[in-house]
Amino acid sequence: MYWSRDHAGATGKLIVAIDGLENRGFSVNHQRHEIGQLGPHDENLAIDTVWIGPTNAKKLLLSTSGVHGVEGFAGSAIQLSQIDDLRTPSDLPEDTAIAFVHVMNPWGMAWLRRVNESNVDLNRNFLKHGEEYSGEPQGYAKLSPLLNIKKYPKPLEPFIFKAYLYTLKNGYSETKQAFAEGQYRRPKGLQFGGFKLEKGPQILLNWLEENLTHVEQCNCIDLHTGLGKSGKDTLLVDIDVNSPRFTQLKQRFGEKITGLDSGTGLAYSVRGGIHCGVEDRFPNIEWAGITQEFGTIKPFPLIKALRAENCITWWSELTPQQLLNHKSRQKLLSAFRVDELKWERALIDNGKRLFNLALADLQTQNERKD
Ligand SMILES: [Zn+2]
Repeated sequence: MYWSRDHAGATGKLIVAIDGLENRGFSVNHQRHEIGQLGPHDENLAIDTVWIGPTNAKKLLLSTSGVHGVEGFAGSAIQLSQIDDLRTPSDLPEDTAIAFVHVMNPWGMAWLRRVNESNVDLNRNFLKHGEEYSGEPQGYAKLSPLLNIKKYPKPLEPFIFKAYLYTLKNGYSETKQAFAEGQYRRPKGLQFGGFKLEKGPQILLNWLEENLTHVEQCNCIDLHTGLGKSGKDTLLVDIDVNSPRFTQLKQRFGEKITGLDSGTGLAYSVRGGIHCGVEDRFPNIEWAGITQEFGTIKPFPLIKALRAENCITWWSELTPQQLLNHKSRQKLLSAFRVDELKWERALIDNGKRLFNLALADLQTQNERKD
C-alpha cells in the first residue's frame, strides 16, 4: 500500500497520509515547492516538505528521499510507512519535530531517470561554499569512452566483460572512485555534478534556512537504493573511519555504519553530497547525517543499465514520452526498485528500524553531553 507506480501516485498517497496525521491530532505544515517542470501527465512537479510537531523544536529528525529520482519509489514508500506509524501526537518526544522532504528530484522520479532535468546527479551538486563546479576525478577521462557511448548497445554487447577487464587493468578501487566521485566537465556524461547549484537543492536549502532557526540537533537520514546486497541496508557516513566521531556514530547507530572509503569497502568518496552541503551551511547545528542505502542488483549490471539509458536519452531522436516507455528506462527502474514483495518488506522494516533508532537517539543526546 506504500508503493507507487509513478511520482503522481506517490504524491497522492503523501497527501492522504498527511490528512491522516492531521485527523490524528498532529500539527503539520505541508508545503509544495514547484520546480518549474512538468511530468508525463502534464502535472506540475514539486518537492513536498512536511514538518510535524512544534515549529520551535530544538531537536529534529529529518528524512529526505528521491535525491536520485528513480530511487524515490523506495524512498517514498519508506517515508509513507513511517508517517503511518505516527499514531498520536504523544509519540513525539518533547521539544522534537520530524520533517520529511518527499522526493528531492521529482522530475527524475516522474521520468524514470536517476539524474534531474539538467542531467545532474543531485548528490554531487551540493558543493560547499567556495568549491567550484569544475574538473573531474583522475581516471574519468580514460573511463569516459567505455561509459559515455553514443550508439545504443546491441543486446549481446559484452559490457560486463569489458568493464571487468577494465577494472583488472586499472584497479577496482581506482575505477570505482573515478566513476562515482562526480564530474563537473561533461554535461551529457554519467555522474555529472552540474555547473551550478540546481533548483531542487536551492529549494531545499531555502526551506531549511526558514525552518531550522531553533534546531540545535538534527539526525538526518537520506534514503537511496542501488548499493549493496539485495534488500540489505548500509548506513553510509561521510566521516573519517579513524576519527572519534565515527566510533561515536557506530555506538549510536550500530555496526551498519560505514565510511565512504573506496579502498576498504562498498562505497566511495563523493564531491557535493547532500549531507556535506547541508551541514556546511548550518555549522551551528549538531548533525548526524546518514545515507541509508539499500542493495538492488550487482554493480556492473547497474552501470550497464545507467549507461544504456544515458545513451538513448542523449543520442536518439525519441520524444520524452517515447523515452519514458523505452526499455532502457524500464531496465533502469528495475535496477533501482526491485519488484519483489520480499525486497519491499525488507526496505520498509529496515527503514522503520533506523527511523525509530534515530528518533530515540535524539532523546539521549543531552544525557551524553552531561
Ligand atoms: Zn542514490
